[in-house]
Amino acid sequence: MKIAVIGTGYVGLTTALLFAEFGHDVLAVDVDEEKVNTINKGESPIYEPGADELLKKHIGKNLRATTSYDIEDRDIVFICVGTPSKPDGSMETKYLESASEAIGEKLRKGMIVVVKSTVVPGTTENLVLPILERKSGLKAGEFGLAMNPEFLREGLAIYDTFHPDRIVIGEFDKRTGDILEELYRPLEAPILRTSIKVAEMIKYASNAFLATKISFANEIANICERLGIDVYEVMKGVGMDHRISPHFLNAGAGFGGSCFPKDVKALISLAKNLGYEPHLLEDVLKINDYQPRHLVELAEAHYGDLKGAKVAVLGLSFKPDTDDIRETRAAIIVEELLKRGAEVIGYDPKAMANFRKLFPSIKYASGADEAVKNADIVIIQADWEEFKNMNFDAYPNLKLVVDGRRTVKPERVKYVTIGRGD
Ligand code: NAD
Repeated sequence: MKIAVIGTGYVGLTTALLFAEFGHDVLAVDVDEEKVNTINKGESPIYEPGADELLKKHIGKNLRATTSYDIEDRDIVFICVGTPSKPDGSMETKYLESASEAIGEKLRKGMIVVVKSTVVPGTTENLVLPILERKSGLKAGEFGLAMNPEFLREGLAIYDTFHPDRIVIGEFDKRTGDILEELYRPLEAPILRTSIKVAEMIKYASNAFLATKISFANEIANICERLGIDVYEVMKGVGMDHRISPHFLNAGAGFGGSCFPKDVKALISLAKNLGYEPHLLEDVLKINDYQPRHLVELAEAHYGDLKGAKVAVLGLSFKPDTDDIRETRAAIIVEELLKRGAEVIGYDPKAMANFRKLFPSIKYASGADEAVKNADIVIIQADWEEFKNMNFDAYPNLKLVVDGRRTVKPERVKYVTIGRGD
């Protein structure tokens, strides 16, 4: 098949690599020239384990990147552009609109357009479809249309794309559903075929549920703290119930990233527009906003006044194994520390360049050792593997480790974590 992928971020790049690995001819289109050049050199523009190897294997053979929409000869076009939050929490559709317009100009009979970006229910049929029809002069049905949500986790994007729990195909027409089912068959994953709106909602409901699990664990953690019992012991017992499962029950600094916060916000905004007040989802976000602030409160409670204190923040990406800093809890932690007059030194194995754009004036260390060497306090925000092997007891100046992710357990240095009542 001849496939085009529009947008080469986490979702677009991994989708392109998946279909290239299946032997299809893949064209990756992005408006960002730098990204396109990087991809054509065989280098991944994002840090994602396994991406470089697959890129090197396919680039210049059955995979190529371009800034121009040379998609006339494509059988299937996947839209993978970003759908970030607007300041009011609702979904920004401008990238989706411009991609749909550009595709519409090249659309021909029989071509299939698949929305893979996360879009609020109704978007594919009420926004993308009319643009495609208007620009092409064709009617949906003459071209195929589907919504195929993506469930990958950053840091595990390649693994997840090749080992999905399920493939959801929301189809406008049966032919499109059949072709997509065939395309995904080599994955041997369960395939669920639905209407377009159901597929769109499956994505939001899945992310909202996972975000709710995390905030639920954090709510229980904050109660456990007051009881002086350990939420991790509690959740171990809770997660043994097969109806609940142990996943996403880790209390800590809260969730970040490009998906959970924005998708919950977009669902809240959609619900309100539909005349429903989504109390549960609003509280999920409130708890998530409090958790990183609580880490700083713990630092203050166990160290004292933070004015002038040297605080090393370890882990600036929203989670380990990614350089993505979108909605990272580290940003809230750093803001709270600066408000209290602390001297912040940040370190992250991959996300420092991105974080520096947010906070250009804090100090950055070239390694974890350098960050911790002169620190009074360490706050662990993301549990990168290299932090787990550190011996914090070996730093004579260090007085306190505040651990947002249950990463380490020093013996000499005072250790405080969320959900235990330390
Ligand atoms: P991203 O921001 O990493 O990448 C989006 C890319 O689209 C950028 O490279 C941008 O330059 C490009 N782009 C923007 N407008 C364009 C246009 N008109 N034509 C061509 N390219 C254009 O985004 P992402 O993280 O890959 O997310 C993409 C979508 O997938 C979003 O809707 C997101 O919610 C969803 N999603 C993301 C993840 C994730 O973990 N990142 C997981 C599942 C679903």
